Amino acid sequence: MQTVEARTGSSFRVPAGASVKIVNPHGTQVADTWVLSPKTREWASMAHTRAATGRLFPKVGDHLFSNTRRPLAEFTEDTSGGIHDTLIPACDLSRYEMLGHVGHHDNCAENFTTALAEEGLADLGFVPDPFNVFMNVPWTAGGEIDFAPPVSSPGSYILLRALEDLIVIVSACPQDLVPVNGSLQETKEILVDVQGPPEPGRS
Ligand SMILES: [Zn+2]
Repeated sequence: MQTVEARTGSSFRVPAGASVKIVNPHGTQVADTWVLSPKTREWASMAHTRAATGRLFPKVGDHLFSNTRRPLAEFTEDTSGGIHDTLIPACDLSRYEMLGHVGHHDNCAENFTTALAEEGLADLGFVPDPFNVFMNVPWTAGGEIDFAPPVSSPGSYILLRALEDLIVIVSACPQDLVPVNGSLQETKEILVDVQGPPEPGRS
């Protein structure tokens, strides 16, 4: 198990058949998550995933689809209560300025580009919309959305299984100006574990 410290991001290589476990140790923290194919330079696209699954956010048994509509990963386990978000982009400096913050603020967009560079991958030129794991963005029939605390409990997790060799980038979102990271608006760490595929011949 590796720690993605509060307000930072990290990348993880997940070979085909392996799974990545994303754990919410305090139950209150959002994990902005990107799934990328280093071979084809595709990314798991939230818009394409919504179109393929017919849902606002994936559930166990669904796939995450790439920007060319190829399945990259399967969502295989979820103990968090099943509430996540695909509507909201990664937080960035402009988002914090709009919320009244002055000066630098840690943000998921920078965490993504830094992690991508540390993997030796070329900048995409933009930040894909993340799979906002544990993020609770309730909506109304009229189309209004809200930013609410996660419903996940301490120690709950999700599991994504790689359908090909993938890079998964996880940012422990530093948003502390709206209550997406809990009503206390305190940012916390996320735990990540890459679990290899079962050895051949073993059950
Ligand atoms: Zn963020």
